[in-house]
Amino acid sequence: MDTMEITQQLQTRLQKNTSGEVLTDLASRGRYATDASIYQTIPISVFIPKTAQDIQAAIQIAQELAIPILPRGGGTSQCGQTTGAALVIDNSRHFRNLMDLNLADGYVDVEPGMVLDHLNQALKKHQVWFPVDVSTSGQATIGGMAGNNSCGSRSIAYGNMVHNVLGIDAWLSDGKVSSFGLMQDAAGRALKLGQFVQQLALEHHAEMVEKWPKVLRRVAGYNLDIFHNQNEKPYTEDGRVNLSHLLVGSEGSLAYFKKLRLKLAELPQQKTLGVINFASFYQAMDSAQHIVKLGPCAVELVDRTMIDLARTNPAFKKIIETGLKDPQAPTPEAILLVEFAGNDLSYLKQQLNQLVELMADLGMPGSVVEMIDPQTQKNLWEVRKAGLNIMMSLKGDGKPVSFIEDCAVPLEHLAEYTNALTEVFTKHGTRGTWYAHASVGTLHVRPILDMRRDGAAKMRAIAEEAAELVAKYKGAFSGEHGDGISRGEWIQWQFGSNINEAFRKIKNNFDPTNLFNPGKIIDTPKMDDQSLFRFPPSYKVIPIQTAFDWSSWNVQNNPLTEQTSAPGSGGDPANGFSKAIEMCNNNGHCRKFDAGTMCPSYRVTRDEKHVTRGRANTLRLALSSQLEESGLATAEVKEALDLCVGCKGCKRECPTGVDMAKMKLEFTHQYKAKHGYTLRDRLIGTLPKYAHWIANTPGLPSLFNFRNKNQGIANLLEKFTGISAQRKLPSWTKDTAFTRSFEEEFELTSLEELKNAHKPVVFWVDTFNGFFESQNIRAALAVLKAGGFSVHLLRKENGHYCCGRTFMSTGMMDQAKTSAKELLDVLMPITQQGIPIVGLEPSCLLSLRDEYLVMGLGYNAEELNQLANGSKLFEEFLFEEHQQGRLHLKLTEAKNTIQVHGHCHQKAMDTVKPLLDLLAIIPKANVQLIETSCCGMAGSFGYEVEHLEVSKQMAELSLLPSIRNQPDAIVVANGVSCRHQIHEGSEKQALHVAQVLAMHLQEKSFSTSVFSIN
Ligand SMILES: Cc1cc2nc3c(=O)[nH]c(=O)nc-3n(C[C@H](O)[C@H](O)[C@H](O)COP(=O)(O)OP(=O)(O)OC[C@H]3O[C@@H](n4cnc5c(N)ncnc54)[C@H](O)[C@@H]3O)c2cc1C
Ligand code: SF4
Ligand code: SF4
Repeated sequence: MDTMEITQQLQTRLQKNTSGEVLTDLASRGRYATDASIYQTIPISVFIPKTAQDIQAAIQIAQELAIPILPRGGGTSQCGQTTGAALVIDNSRHFRNLMDLNLADGYVDVEPGMVLDHLNQALKKHQVWFPVDVSTSGQATIGGMAGNNSCGSRSIAYGNMVHNVLGIDAWLSDGKVSSFGLMQDAAGRALKLGQFVQQLALEHHAEMVEKWPKVLRRVAGYNLDIFHNQNEKPYTEDGRVNLSHLLVGSEGSLAYFKKLRLKLAELPQQKTLGVINFASFYQAMDSAQHIVKLGPCAVELVDRTMIDLARTNPAFKKIIETGLKDPQAPTPEAILLVEFAGNDLSYLKQQLNQLVELMADLGMPGSVVEMIDPQTQKNLWEVRKAGLNIMMSLKGDGKPVSFIEDCAVPLEHLAEYTNALTEVFTKHGTRGTWYAHASVGTLHVRPILDMRRDGAAKMRAIAEEAAELVAKYKGAFSGEHGDGISRGEWIQWQFGSNINEAFRKIKNNFDPTNLFNPGKIIDTPKMDDQSLFRFPPSYKVIPIQTAFDWSSWNVQNNPLTEQTSAPGSGGDPANGFSKAIEMCNNNGHCRKFDAGTMCPSYRVTRDEKHVTRGRANTLRLALSSQLEESGLATAEVKEALDLCVGCKGCKRECPTGVDMAKMKLEFTHQYKAKHGYTLRDRLIGTLPKYAHWIANTPGLPSLFNFRNKNQGIANLLEKFTGISAQRKLPSWTKDTAFTRSFEEEFELTSLEELKNAHKPVVFWVDTFNGFFESQNIRAALAVLKAGGFSVHLLRKENGHYCCGRTFMSTGMMDQAKTSAKELLDVLMPITQQGIPIVGLEPSCLLSLRDEYLVMGLGYNAEELNQLANGSKLFEEFLFEEHQQGRLHLKLTEAKNTIQVHGHCHQKAMDTVKPLLDLLAIIPKANVQLIETSCCGMAGSFGYEVEHLEVSKQMAELSLLPSIRNQPDAIVVANGVSCRHQIHEGSEKQALHVAQVLAMHLQEKSFSTSVFSIN
């Protein structure tokens, strides 16, 4: 049989004999071709099993067809161990259950696909946790962590994965399950395998003593030393041999984990944190050996480059600055985060004092920022955890590359080692950013290399020199992230050929047919084999003309200075679009479920296709002709982007700034330009154009609203337009905000008067509030008038000024640009006179600060920035005025709790806080932010028949349950589509903040007509 036939057989048999999903198309396989390393290999097939029987059957089928198997969790490995020409089996979708919790005996049994944070969330109420706290805790699965022998920031206190696994049930290559636990209890195949390895260990004892690095952080090769411990910390507390430890760190190459038994640790109730600010990096490194003597549970490094990078990221800036002695002063060369944990806060404070004294004794008095508040500590740890990702945000083809990133050296040599390695980098024309686990001598560092050009050669040269240093200081070459491809060839270097041969025998004995993840740990390829690179020499991007200006991504960088070249100079045939996509380094941070927005579609489907990473990979492969069809306007790209709601969650939360929302706009434009617009596109896109006609034609608003009352009409329209009959559409109001009566009613100021008026404001009415919810405009005007502002309502004869968002989202970029330009032309002179522009709808107003900057609208960056800065959401404007002491509203007391749902674009542009702050000026207001992702309506997305269910599921993740939990609360949602989703899902009428403030005005000058849907 040729390869095609075998693959076909695999697919047929898997489909016939299992309940799992088999993915054979190139795009799906491409999404599983990479982990967070520099490597890429398209798998033979991808399998998403639903049951344990599915996995067992898959192993047997693959064995019979001689197709290798690669187990996969979150795919966040850094060395290429989760890439391979194999049948990739994804545990993360369906094998994520906690199976058994035994608090009395201190263990928990879990399935391999369970994510660490989810496990710890479930354990929290029992005051216990699983303490191997890797930075990727929101994505890393327990199976993957065991596969890699992962290590957390607190390994000095708790050890590595191997120290915390008590047992593993695993399928061996014959498809049968064996239990690996204490050697004394072993039976059957597990016992035989254990005895075999024990004999090998005996034979190699002397050599192990000689060659094995004597540090906590050694994860290379197989753990032959479980029989003669060489680790700083014994693998078991009582010295008994546990055979599951042979599987830990085996990178999927020995067996397929079915169930893992993990040791629980008591959850410390209290923590204190000392953040030491160092004027010199060497001092920081040299101090670590003294600091660990105080008994901290973590000592983590963040260097100056990383602090500076964090300060340029809006999500991290304020947080990182809480750790600086003086945010106004030059950035320290390094900070060390020293954590003390336990249950007695007064003792922990004493430990913190001892740290302060120690630093004074070491000649650095006053260098410690002391943190007691748990939230401030937690926030800073989040930034530290995001360290690597922050570093990866460097634009250009030169990227920090992981290959010597976790060498571990004894602490007394740390300062010399880091100095020497820095010199190596300089010699090779690059530099590295240092961070992470100073407590255990494992400092992460990634030299910046251009893997498309001379990176491969430099990588080898630097690795060789780094290895010499590691040998000199008797350290471990692979101290955290495993071997994979980038370190596989160094196993023999580290342990010598005899022990390497022993590893081969272990592999052959466990897996005689080389079924599991071949080419890892044994017979590994060369680290610089360019045929395995994600960007091999053959990588070529096809040219495209883009609608948005992506030139700021189209740059190159200087690895020594990290300065980037001028926008547009990066040589990208796709004008910067492909370089923007290539910023995704596959770290998987978008596979998260906790706070924040990213990525709502993945939260619902858990499908790699529907996460930002999967989308970025699809786009990258499509633009580099690695899929069935090349280019943007293809079915494969469409499928991957279909459930992207354009929430901009990734724009803010993806550490490397992958802005998929904008990419989707670009895609939609390209796709529609090629394939044409549907009736629905036209109805939605051109709404701002025909809205006036409907609103001003007697009888028409009622006629259109009748659709909401008549299911037959709704069904008919669904058939022709694809707008779901199950949704009510926004109701046309007879009282639109685009009439003269508004100006007269509120005695608004004319534009001429405005310049000399008291507290002038230009109020811009958007399409949605203007036509469908003009009561919000009334409310906002009433509040502004009550605040003493002179308000000018922006209006236009026979129409209104529209931001162009509906055009943008339906791919009509030419019309979007025309609308945007028209609005800009009228706003620009206003903003240039320093008059603030205020609007209500986040997705409309915030376009001025986001999309407008890259739409090529004929204004320069300075002018656009001036406009962006001068355009405020209603709540931002009012709260700023309040802060400046210029807002004196007389408000009545709040009677109900106020729940707030932030619009995704508010979250992305960091404007939720002013909304909360503004509501808090209402006397006795109890304002609660609902932790939500996207509401699921997302403009027209939730109205579209094919997206209805996903849209509802998004809302049910946390938004609607939180609202139902508090029936008496007032709900504030500033987005028009959010209000609709809330109303449909909870029967509750969410309000724009303007309405809530207006309701609390002591002197009401308008009637509170609350938004309603007919
Ligand atoms: C930004 C960033 C930060 C990181 N920080 C840390 C850190 O602090 N500490 C750390 O140790 N690592 C860290 N890593 C590396 C990586 O996140 C961890 O090793 C993580 O534990 C891998 O989990 P995963 O689910 O993504 O595993 P995957 O990459 O999916 O798999 C890892 C290995 O385990 C094998 N495997 C997976 N499931 C099974 C199974 N069921 N049976 C047998 N083998 C299996 C795979 O074949 C593979 O070889 C980081 C990576 C990134 C990108
Ligand atoms: S899209 Fe962003 S968060 Fe997701 S994997 Fe890529 S870089 Fe990481
Ligand atoms: S814009 Fe939102 S839905 Fe789309 S990829 Fe980003 S986070 Fe996911």
